[in-house]
Amino acid sequence: MSASPIYLDFNATTPVDPAVLDAMLPFFRDRFGNPSSSHKYGTAAAEALARARTQVAALLEASPEEIVFTSCATESINLAIKGIAFARRMQAKHHFVMSAVEHPAAAEAVRYLEREHDGVVTVVPVEQDGRVDPWRVLAAVRENTALVTLIHAQNETGALQPLQQIGEVLRSRGVPFHVDASQSVGKVPVSVSALPCDALSLAGHKLYAPKGVGVLYVRAEVELHPLLHGAPYEGGRRGGTANVPYAVGLGAACELAMGWLKSSGPERQRARRDRLQRALEADAGATLNGPRDERLPNTLNVSFPGVIGNELLDAAPEIAASTGSACHAGTHEPSGVLLAMGRSPQEALSAVRLSLGRGTTDKEIDTAAKALTAAWRKLKKP
Ligand code: PLP
Repeated sequence: MSASPIYLDFNATTPVDPAVLDAMLPFFRDRFGNPSSSHKYGTAAAEALARARTQVAALLEASPEEIVFTSCATESINLAIKGIAFARRMQAKHHFVMSAVEHPAAAEAVRYLEREHDGVVTVVPVEQDGRVDPWRVLAAVRENTALVTLIHAQNETGALQPLQQIGEVLRSRGVPFHVDASQSVGKVPVSVSALPCDALSLAGHKLYAPKGVGVLYVRAEVELHPLLHGAPYEGGRRGGTANVPYAVGLGAACELAMGWLKSSGPERQRARRDRLQRALEADAGATLNGPRDERLPNTLNVSFPGVIGNELLDAAPEIAASTGSACHAGTHEPSGVLLAMGRSPQEALSAVRLSLGRGTTDKEIDTAAKALTAAWRKLKKP
């Protein structure tokens, strides 16, 4: 059997950390209780769920009551955007603000409110490095703005948006603010006690917990209507019996993430990513898509001159990476995110996203750089 390719697609999904799996397994076996049951099985599950909530809250510097467990980031984002809009008794012509580089989970939820609830949407363009100008976001806000939603770290480029200033002004103006932090939580510090926002979404499978679990942080004072009506679980914000094993896994993953962020892990990861970037810029004429500094430490999106990104990856089977967002993989449409940054369709089609994990080694980086450079030399048009 040929060796497994080097995995450089950690922004698409991460493996489940063995410690996370170990924490989860008892809750499929003898500790299977329903957290609402009043007997011993139920109270054991309820205690585990409470602990997981505390672990997630600790990572985000939130209160446990502000943590809502969901099934994925898409659900969290939909709950935030629609739940806040509906709680404001959404009237015709309610106004929404988002950037041109949102993940479809946010963009499509906003477009739904525009289409089905007579909302009005302002899409704020991004600069060439993929970041919004805070003043353009704030200038877009109107009297009747129901919500501003912004991605924290862009999934394709890793660009970190300047949210602090935006959040401070929005709070002073009483405008609800949702942050899609699906890519940033666990990779860089994300604290809702430092960042003024009303809701913040994350996905378990981007930080070494399994797919099938997410979280929405909702600030205590914020009114939000549930999307899943049912029993008053999750503080009345989501019906449906809690997925205890997965919540436990996400709690354990958040604890691991805290340790990783406090260690020199992110700095080492950044140094490896920069080493890969330097090699590809020097040996394959690659050009960076995204900001040089204000970027996730694990993400590198580069265009290779004269080739198509998909074909380049096909010619480098030693590595597993993606072109643009994994959600759109398989299509040969240029990435809308890169087009929004002013890249030409040709430049966007020649892009590859390489995203490192906590355990990515120097050796893997060097092998990947060599494989991509060799594939580029073979394919490039003279
Ligand atoms: N938001 C961002 C920034 C993402 O990268 C993703 C997944 O790629 C999502 C939201 C949606 O996550 P999920 O598909 O797990 O719901």
